[in-house]
Amino acid sequence: MSGQEMKTRVEEDVLCSFCGCLCDDLVVEIEGNKVKNVRHACRLGASKLMGHERIRTPMIRKNGKLEEVSYQEAYDRAAQILVNAKRPLLYGWASTVCEAQKKGILLTEMVGGILDSTATVCHGPSILGIEERGLSGATLGQIKNRADLIVFWGCNPAEAHPKHGLRYSTNVCGFFTPEGRKGRKVLVVDVRQTRTAKNADKFIMIATGSDFEVLSALRMFVAGKGEFVPEKVGGVPKEELFEAADMMKAAKFGAFFFGLGITHSRGRSKNVGNALALIAELNAHTKFVVMPMRGHYNVAGIGQVAAWETGFPMSIDFSRGTAYFNPGETAACDVLSREDTDAVMVVASDPASNFPRGIVENLAKVPVIQIDPYENPTTLLAEVVIPSAIAGVECEGTAYRMDGLALRMKKLVNSPHPSDEGVLNGIIESVKKLRGTEAEAKAPNEASA
Ligand code: SF4
Repeated sequence: MSGQEMKTRVEEDVLCSFCGCLCDDLVVEIEGNKVKNVRHACRLGASKLMGHERIRTPMIRKNGKLEEVSYQEAYDRAAQILVNAKRPLLYGWASTVCEAQKKGILLTEMVGGILDSTATVCHGPSILGIEERGLSGATLGQIKNRADLIVFWGCNPAEAHPKHGLRYSTNVCGFFTPEGRKGRKVLVVDVRQTRTAKNADKFIMIATGSDFEVLSALRMFVAGKGEFVPEKVGGVPKEELFEAADMMKAAKFGAFFFGLGITHSRGRSKNVGNALALIAELNAHTKFVVMPMRGHYNVAGIGQVAAWETGFPMSIDFSRGTAYFNPGETAACDVLSREDTDAVMVVASDPASNFPRGIVENLAKVPVIQIDPYENPTTLLAEVVIPSAIAGVECEGTAYRMDGLALRMKKLVNSPHPSDEGVLNGIIESVKKLRGTEAEAKAPNEASA
């Protein structure tokens, strides 16, 4: 290795492409073409940027074994699977950049498939709730600078978003909140005492599946109709809920963060709707904002890109020749559980680890194409495996933070692999070749322009 290649440089203000916080204050030391050290990241983010064992070459399964092939062979085989399928599912998209997501939507439309994101198994109900009720939103910067009460409901940022408190919510010092944690109150509602709950000023442990009732009781207190609330709701004494409602009304600026504890317990999108209604009603007394705690770093991005390209945020079916959206019918788990898809392409995701067992069994019955930098349990089911560069480390791109702010991620080092966008372009070209047309495919919004 030459002296030039081994030169050490330091990149500042680097974005972390792990969770929805998209922390943008990382300092990365690079030696030659390798990340040597990451400062200011939590352990999750540092581990992603430092990198670990990768898929090294494209592979196609032959006689039950994955065999190394060229990128072109992998693109051609992937295109063949997608073109031959009647209703392919193109799933994942939360851990890649908006540029790749846009190509994914174009490819799905070309092959008449269904596009769905990991939101379908995390904050999909939030999206439906927000569509019904609207959202009293804010940026994380506003919350940092103004919030004197932070509510975490059904989420555990101390473990899932470790820098959330330090950078945006509980512990950070802001313009109107110079005392940081001392000047703020923290209220946690959950079904168990998490690490986040241990650091709260007030923790309310509710019975599993009782979020809707507890939210309704709080709404009654906020509306001044506490006399109609029963003595206990969701296993919580009435007085405790009264105190929590009082705490919320007394805040100058409250921020309500919610997680999968609400979206995936009984009630799902209706729980979210009830939480949004509570926040809207609190705004009759004080300023209150609400935000879903998005998990993957660009899961918010696929919702944005899909919405501006097709009009719908997820679970979009192009098999009728036009975009059609009906979660419950067109979501990834719906079509897989009905065995209503005959090929699956997985991009930057691992459904074999995250989907219910019966659905994974159905996934194993159809040809699977995987595009990912890393091997994971989905690789074991895949017929075609295509490694890609890591966005935010080996290629640049745009991602949306959990508050809907679009941020640009840098390329830090070179990669031997193409970006997700490059891989998708390769497959799109192979699809065109297979269909005997070189005509430029148009994105949905371009087609109608
Ligand atoms: S909190 Fe999330 S975005 Fe921030 S450094 Fe940790 S993993 Fe990365």
